[in-house]
Amino acid sequence: MPISNDFSQRLYPKLPDIAAHFGTPFHLYDEEGFRETGRQLQQAFSKVEGFREYYAVKALPNPSILRIMADMGFGFDCSSIAELILSRQAGAKGEDIMFTSNNTSLEEFMAAQEEGGCILNLDDINLIDKVPEMPELVCFRYNPGAARSGNSIIGKPTEAKYGVTHEQIFAAFEKARARGAKRFGLHTMLASNECNASYMVQTTQMLLDLAAQIGQTLNIQFEFINIGGGLGIPYRPEEAVFDVALLGEETHKLLEAFSAKQGYKPKVYMESGRYITGPHGVLVTQAINSKETYRNYVGVDACMSALMRPGMYNAYHHIAVLGKEPSPQDPLVDVVGSLCENNDKFAIQRALPKVEEGDLLIIQDTGAHGQAMGFNYNGKLRPQELLLKADGSVERIRRAETLEDYFATLSFEPKAWSGSL
Ligand SMILES: *Cc1c(COP(=O)(O)O)cnc(C)c1O
Repeated sequence: MPISNDFSQRLYPKLPDIAAHFGTPFHLYDEEGFRETGRQLQQAFSKVEGFREYYAVKALPNPSILRIMADMGFGFDCSSIAELILSRQAGAKGEDIMFTSNNTSLEEFMAAQEEGGCILNLDDINLIDKVPEMPELVCFRYNPGAARSGNSIIGKPTEAKYGVTHEQIFAAFEKARARGAKRFGLHTMLASNECNASYMVQTTQMLLDLAAQIGQTLNIQFEFINIGGGLGIPYRPEEAVFDVALLGEETHKLLEAFSAKQGYKPKVYMESGRYITGPHGVLVTQAINSKETYRNYVGVDACMSALMRPGMYNAYHHIAVLGKEPSPQDPLVDVVGSLCENNDKFAIQRALPKVEEGDLLIIQDTGAHGQAMGFNYNGKLRPQELLLKADGSVERIRRAETLEDYFATLSFEPKAWSGSL
């Protein structure tokens, strides 16, 4: 949806100068916006003791951004070695990091357990014997199967590759305990970009019910539940903002009820990515061509290498044209990049003010799963990333990829196999 008034007021007056200074295209992120959303989240969960957000690094894996997250007191949710390194470089230590991998390799387990380790969130019962060293604190990712519906990004729980089934989860904790685990957490992540706070409340309820059942059966007190990420943001103008205050309030009530029956309260963790950074990023790109054929096209200097979501999920991203207001007479256009794939379109049959060459287009809500999902197909390179800082200045926080980067993997030690008898 149109970026917040605060963000556009901070950005738009300076945008022509920023574009002239750094060149287009670029993703630009709004530090004030991140901090404001961070404050709202902490405020919403202020009655939930021990609440902590573990920012999902994959949403925006840039060191400057991760330092802001660490500064807000957030931990990090990682699922690869690179993400572990990024988190540790941002100052995270030990239990500041949650490692939620799936189909995990031995190499990944080893990296997770280096440098003071992290909270291991195991995705399968068969991994218990494969963890090189069973940590004292262990968590399992739960998949409720047919008991819950998912949504389009993750799919139905019964078809999703994630997590341990209801039948397996009791045995999983028992087995982990037999291998030496002493402290326990319970995790799930069922949906992504879920805009309905009640769905997330039901997820919290589900985890607490399960924690009570497992707790009674195995005599375990859970140190935490992790309700996952997946909080949605309104990409379309008509969509509503996620009611995080409701989720916080209901979570508080559910914990009170849990505590009355079980005699203790687990801490509540969350690992949002999109909710924290999504609305506070834009992809700024310049119109370089226009084409009138069976449809009218606006060609811009970014392509889907910078933002996969429209091509991959048919996702909507709102677009503004700098200095031009929408009107009912606006023509319908497809906004396209230069990649030889017909799904390289940032917008399809979108009413936009008449775009002229040189205009700046602001593709909105790219602060999560934007640059990070980019790729190099067709030899396309990913753009630079800029940070609009709280003091109003703008800093480059990642340079654009270059052709040298693209060709770097072609410079290597020769190696061949000639076959053998
Ligand atoms: C991707 C992911 C997240 C973050 O999802 P958002 O939709 O960005 O909140 C959190 N946890 C896990 C395990 C994930 O894979």
